[in-house]
Amino acid sequence: MSQQFDVIVIGGGPGGYEAAIRAAQLGFATACIDDWTRPDGKPAPGGTCTNVGCIPSKALLQSSENFEEAGHAFAEHGIGVTGLSMDVAKMLARKARVVAQNNDGILYLFKKNKIAFFHGFGSFAGKDSDRWKVSVAGKAPAEIAGTHVIIATGSKPRALPNVPIDNVRVLDNDGALSMNAVPKRLGVVGAGVIGLEMGSVWRRLGAEVTMLEALPAFLQAVDTTIAKEAQKLFAKQGLAIQTGVAIGKVDVGSKDVTVTYTTSDGKEVKATYDHLIVSIGRVPFSEGLKGDTVGLVLDERGFIEVDGECRTNLANVWAIGDVVRGPMLAHKAEEEGVAVAERIAGQKPHLDFNTIPWVIYTSPEIAWVGKTEQQLKADGVDYRAGQFPFIANGRARAMGDTRGLVKMLADRKTDAILGVHIIGPMASELISEAVVAMEFGASSEDIARITHAHPTLSEAMREAALAVDGRTLNL
Ligand SMILES: Cc1cc2nc3c(=O)[nH]c(=O)nc-3n(C[C@H](O)[C@H](O)[C@H](O)COP(=O)(O)OP(=O)(O)OC[C@H]3O[C@@H](n4cnc5c(N)ncnc54)[C@H](O)[C@@H]3O)c2cc1C
Repeated sequence: MSQQFDVIVIGGGPGGYEAAIRAAQLGFATACIDDWTRPDGKPAPGGTCTNVGCIPSKALLQSSENFEEAGHAFAEHGIGVTGLSMDVAKMLARKARVVAQNNDGILYLFKKNKIAFFHGFGSFAGKDSDRWKVSVAGKAPAEIAGTHVIIATGSKPRALPNVPIDNVRVLDNDGALSMNAVPKRLGVVGAGVIGLEMGSVWRRLGAEVTMLEALPAFLQAVDTTIAKEAQKLFAKQGLAIQTGVAIGKVDVGSKDVTVTYTTSDGKEVKATYDHLIVSIGRVPFSEGLKGDTVGLVLDERGFIEVDGECRTNLANVWAIGDVVRGPMLAHKAEEEGVAVAERIAGQKPHLDFNTIPWVIYTSPEIAWVGKTEQQLKADGVDYRAGQFPFIANGRARAMGDTRGLVKMLADRKTDAILGVHIIGPMASELISEAVVAMEFGASSEDIARITHAHPTLSEAMREAALAVDGRTLNL
């Protein structure tokens, strides 16, 4: 007889492994299946996020930022650096160690929570009375059965039409995080979150980076004040960003890649790069799951169709994370996973997409939550805006990083915070205060009245809140 579980999670990325942990905490006999494998054949749970996404990109962003700081920012502190050099192999080895620590951490958590981990590829194999049968293909094939199945199979990179990713010349995120030398000329198609992060890493290490973006405006989804500031700052750093570009022919040679594209003013340009990173978004991944054999419904874009609570069309089959609608973010996947486990236990968790924070880990970082000013205008919402630049923040001056600002948007009548947008040092950490505030329905006055330690960057948040009421103290 096959092994029986209350909950089977297919996919061990941030959505899947956290769903499994929460299900186990709630007392369910839980299994998690994941197929990601390290070069030595060992399991590598953690999905895209841990293996080729959030974690390795932040490791390389940190290494490259340290290199740039040592080369450019230390001097002003009186620190002289001679003979500065970059050992790319060592940087990549460190990244691999960081990834492996996270893989091992998840394996430890599976053990700690008594989750049965199956290293292999899971697929539906029909139904046995009220239990779903799931096959695991891999080194240790198995057939297991579960009352509930949570699908957390994630996403994969989108390729340019007719330009296959070879991860030699044409790179996806995996290739972009693994180049063993700094390219001289690097092209990046797509100036979104991933493109900007990858472009930043290699620019800091010395590559000439050109970013080709199809949309007419830079960072169109970001508040325009922040996007404009970002474009100015990134241009100053030497990131060449072209918007409104139409990619034509891409010729992949043995040593380089030539891209023919049309600029926003209609000029045809032929540019040659050592490598081309393609970061034009990601598509849901549910191949090989054999969902069609049990009648699982996908939408027209290939996402598994779910309701607001992550229920698919099949009884007791749920889907979460990148493989379903909504922002493709690790923390969104995690929250959905936890919420589904709690729903299975009969609880009533709630996940508000409007308070999910977004972060771009460039330098300076960009982070936001809630509505942008352009969205409020389009929705006809009456609001007040306040902003405060880091140049007027004592801690930022002491740190030597005064780039950027905090902008707060609040309802004119109720003063409820509707959105907070930051570009500046540690924006990724600062945004949490805004998330908490919005989750608790705080007003801008609430933030203005809360004591913020001095001197901290968080004082810029308080000042932006004061600015909503036209009464900043330090500007
Ligand atoms: C370069 C890059 C940087 C990123 N940075 C950030 C960031 O800083 N912050 C952030 O929030 N998000 C970031 N993301 C996005 C984030 O990685 C994803 O949103 C997140 O990983 C989605 O989690 P998931 O659990 O839905 O899927 P995934 O992480 O994709 O995990 C799915 C797992 O399921 C496995 N799998 C698939 N099918 C099967 C099957 N049938 N059987 C067994 N296993 C299967 C896959 O191999 C994989 O291990 C980044 C992405 C990239 C590419």
